[in-house]
Amino acid sequence: MPSVFSHAVAAVAVGAVAVGGRSRAPVWALGALCAVAPDLDVVTSFVFRIPYRDMLGHRGLSHSLLAAAMLALLATAVARCAWPESPGAATLGLYFFAAASHGLLDAMTNGGLGVAFFAPFSDTRYFFPWRPILVSPISLHVFFGYHGVRVMWSELGWIWLPSSLIVLAGLTWRRRDRPRLVETSGGRSS
Ligand SMILES: [Zn+2]
Repeated sequence: MPSVFSHAVAAVAVGAVAVGGRSRAPVWALGALCAVAPDLDVVTSFVFRIPYRDMLGHRGLSHSLLAAAMLALLATAVARCAWPESPGAATLGLYFFAAASHGLLDAMTNGGLGVAFFAPFSDTRYFFPWRPILVSPISLHVFFGYHGVRVMWSELGWIWLPSSLIVLAGLTWRRRDRPRLVETSGGRSS
């Protein structure tokens, strides 16, 4: 997996483009939560001694497209209740699905097992043909050592830098859009 920080950063970047409005910050935060949630399987695997290869193991069912869809439905319901002024359910649902599709980044890492995108219907694990991201170690001890520095360097280049550019593009686009809306409403009132 890339580190949980990088999954969160990627989700915020998608949010900067997909979700605007007054409630964008909490919606992006919820998207970031959806993006890191699949890796809770590291904890459950450890507590219940579930083997990595198992469908309930790391990168198994929790990383599937079905789990992403369920998480997106739940997050959309929460967002619509908590922030009624947020964008419509379709926009939120697509955003949260993209954010929760955490396995897409995992499938671009160079280590571990692949991602069970189609669990529980198939336990086949998949990687993309292009895997430039160094895999993040599961052990915190290793993560905070030299290998962790190499992983973060790799993620800075392959995730944080593109995400920053996407955030900048999204914010610029929204800022350019705002005066046009004011002009339009001014034109109507005169
Ligand atoms: Zn993962």
